[in-house]
Amino acid sequence: MPAKFQISFAKTARADGGVAILLKLAGDQPPAGASDADPAGIYAKAASVAEFSGKNSSILDIVAPHGSPFDRIAVLGLGKPAGLVAYDWLRVGGIAAASVKTASKVAIYVDAPGIAVDGEKAANVALGMLLRAYSFDSYKTKKKGEEDDKAVKTVNVTIVTADPAAAKAAFVAAQAVADGVNLARELVNLPPNVLGPVEFAAKAKELEKLGVEVDILTEKEMKKLGMGALLGVAQGSVKPPRIAVMHWKGGKSKEQPVAFVGKGVTFDTGGISIKPGASMEDMKGDMGGAAAVTGLMHTLAARKAKVNAIGIIGLVENMPDGNAQRPGDIVTSMSGQTIEIINTDAEGRLVLCDALWYCKETYKPRFMINLATLTGAILVALGNLHAGLFSNNDELAGQLLAAGEESQEKLWRMPLSKDYDKIIDSRFADMKNSGGRHAGSITAAQFLARYVGDTPWAHLDIAGTAMGSPSNEINQSWGSGYGVRLLDQLVRTNFEA
Ligand code: MN
Ligand code: ZN
Repeated sequence: MPAKFQISFAKTARADGGVAILLKLAGDQPPAGASDADPAGIYAKAASVAEFSGKNSSILDIVAPHGSPFDRIAVLGLGKPAGLVAYDWLRVGGIAAASVKTASKVAIYVDAPGIAVDGEKAANVALGMLLRAYSFDSYKTKKKGEEDDKAVKTVNVTIVTADPAAAKAAFVAAQAVADGVNLARELVNLPPNVLGPVEFAAKAKELEKLGVEVDILTEKEMKKLGMGALLGVAQGSVKPPRIAVMHWKGGKSKEQPVAFVGKGVTFDTGGISIKPGASMEDMKGDMGGAAAVTGLMHTLAARKAKVNAIGIIGLVENMPDGNAQRPGDIVTSMSGQTIEIINTDAEGRLVLCDALWYCKETYKPRFMINLATLTGAILVALGNLHAGLFSNNDELAGQLLAAGEESQEKLWRMPLSKDYDKIIDSRFADMKNSGGRHAGSITAAQFLARYVGDTPWAHLDIAGTAMGSPSNEINQSWGSGYGVRLLDQLVRTNFEA
């Protein structure tokens, strides 16, 4: 690692060097081996010597003896079969990717005794490898041969499975997910001098090569639409704002679209209510919601999802200068509702309220889900292991929670109520943009709720999960790509014909 994996699927692997990776459930049975290579025989002895039980995520690494067709044999523990979910197969792929080390050839035998590995599971192993392989190193000038461990090389991976045709078919979607997640990670990792609103909109425009229709709204058009809330945030920056609207039309022509809306603050200084200096550089990730929406649209298009989907991202930079908005300003949103600015650092909701209203009015979607690195308060409540889920619709919330479990991009539902809503009433305008420190994530959600009407809606506060979350088997990147797998799972399970 880092490596580029060239993945293929076959019934057997040619055993001439490299690493063999076998899977094993917890318990006594040995893993399956290739008949022509018999790594299982080698394993049996090593396992008893090492007392290897096969518990989840454990690994037994064996240097193959003289005469073996492989150089190394690694056995990955799967744990107990009853508890395995889709994510476990990604995890297997991630661990397998890391255990490749310096080898240039790998055979992964996924058909462990005692468990039926179908095409989808085999493809998920491949997906785990592709996700683990991502690293953000385009600004490291010393790689490519200068330091051996940084050289990116191609590793040929054969995933050995009983039904390679089914795995190959499922891999089309897996590749689409890998590309979508890795795109979202890349966007979050890119520095804010390189990725401003205009450049981000251009990245969204690139989805046209996958058949996505992309419209870009400029400042002039947003002014005409009356998006005073979004424009108020943008006015302190020399970088002009953009909204990118991505349409994927994979469903029936009359079918109402599903809609995803993302906060894309390409850098957030806090504006005049400026943030403290410590860790301000992390605010390049304040566009994690927009990155997830863009990555998701990539995935849906690349796997030709049978759904009509809209992705809308509000792109601005929040800077303090002579033209910046002030605390005390009152702005008028596209909805006509007025907002008193209390704190210019509570800017994400100002961007989203115009994007949500525009989405609802223009596309009349079946539902709207917005993603935003919205509040530091969600980190206080949930750390970086769950994103906060707020919703006006129990059915949609339930579907999201289930997709969270399946994808292991976890959500925790938080409350909304009239009493919380009252906290953001303003003395001078219809509402204020900050309700203060207490219940900060909830009052931010109440603010957004005032712009969605009766449309089924969910807000995911991903400030803790989009970036800087602990690295794991399938992610070693600062920008995690959180939300792409979650929402792809949601669409797959519930909204494809
Ligand atoms: Mn802010
Ligand atoms: Zn922000």
